Amino acid sequence: MIIAIDGPAASGKGTLGKKLAAHYGLRHLDTGLLYRAVAKTLIDAGKQPSDKAAAVAAAKALDPARFDEAALKGPAVGEAASVVSAIPELRAELVAFQRDFAAKPPGAVLDGRDIGTVICPDADVKIFVTASPEVRARRRALEYRAAGKAVDEAAVLADIHRRDERDTTRAAAPLKQAADAHLLDTTHLDIDAAIRAAIDIVEATRAGRGRD
Ligand code: C5P
Repeated sequence: MIIAIDGPAASGKGTLGKKLAAHYGLRHLDTGLLYRAVAKTLIDAGKQPSDKAAAVAAAKALDPARFDEAALKGPAVGEAASVVSAIPELRAELVAFQRDFAAKPPGAVLDGRDIGTVICPDADVKIFVTASPEVRARRRALEYRAAGKAVDEAAVLADIHRRDERDTTRAAAPLKQAADAHLLDTTHLDIDAAIRAAIDIVEATRAGRGRD
């Protein structure tokens, strides 16, 4: 089974992806880490995130097995990742890895921006997770605080607005709900309720298709 989860920054798709994968015994790929890793390589090398040749070269050299998630999850890397990810040649370079990951038995949960639309258009279940920008900013700020980072929630909200704008308006694989994706709005749901709702979607979809 392949489950595609897409949604904007800090919508909770990463947490949902992890939990759904554990629930169904599937592997999980947070595809944002791929773009973040390319962005961090460019930052560390003193290059601009819009440098196409450097981004493609960084993508070719990626080793996801060695990702340092904590170092990739910061706001500066996220911001650079949303610039890097608008480069079509860079996106093309990352397609095969994501599709190979999804295709390996017993299947996988992938979360990102274009999983249901571009990477796995035939996924068994597609979920588009969203929440209001204010709620997403609050959750992200709480995460940073829990990790001991100083946070200005207004700056986090501004960052979310900026990334939403960039991710939805770019020409290459913009963030958008696939026609056959189920919308899951978590604005008024805590994480447990969101997971229950996501499992309900998976079960209803499988029942509808007569899968076991
Ligand atoms: O999901 P996360 O916030 O870690 O993603 C970082 C950035 O990577 C996003 O703002 C988005 O621009 C980009 N991204 C993407 N396609 C994906 C996953 C992430 O363009 N499948």
